[in-house]
Amino acid sequence: PYTIEQVKALVREFPDFPSEGILFRDIFPIFREPEAVECLVGHFVERVVGLGQRVDAVVGLDARGFLFGPLIAQQLGVAFVPVRKGGKLPGNVVRVTYQKEYGPDVFEMQADAIEAGQTVVIVDDLLATGGSCRAAEELVAKLHGRVALNAFVISLEGLEGRKQLKAPVYALLEC
Ligand code: IMP
Repeated sequence: PYTIEQVKALVREFPDFPSEGILFRDIFPIFREPEAVECLVGHFVERVVGLGQRVDAVVGLDARGFLFGPLIAQQLGVAFVPVRKGGKLPGNVVRVTYQKEYGPDVFEMQADAIEAGQTVVIVDDLLATGGSCRAAEELVAKLHGRVALNAFVISLEGLEGRKQLKAPVYALLEC
């Protein structure tokens, strides 16, 4: 079995990816080890249970939030709800436009995925500027839901993404 420290050690860094000057953090090695995945998921489940609040859904961000968000939701016995890039989800959606490094991007969520008054936890692999997660918080707010926690594998503290977010942040690794 893996310890959470061993899970953290599986995260790799790639200089100059996807473009020069960027140090890319890669969480995929965790997913090569089923026991590391089990440890990671259990760790997040404990954090959510530790909130001491009823949580109705785990909201995962496109695309790496889809790797472990559903596993956390399944263990908690709650819904998993995807936030996807614009135009990917069928039916009625709520939509928000947000700023990425090279221009605007669109995030959507299915309008019937969260009921008014429900509480959710948002998950993604990495918090950078906070723009993506802030957009997800807005989608939840549009459906009159509440965010109890934003949970990440990695937070790049230098970019101060936490300050963009309304709900508290938990990150396994702070870089
Ligand atoms: P933000 O919106 O600036 O906080 O950027 C966070 C989004 O960009 C997340 O969805 C991440 O998956 C992605 N991202 C940014 N940098 C990295 C990285 O080094 N590794 C993996 N994903 C990254």
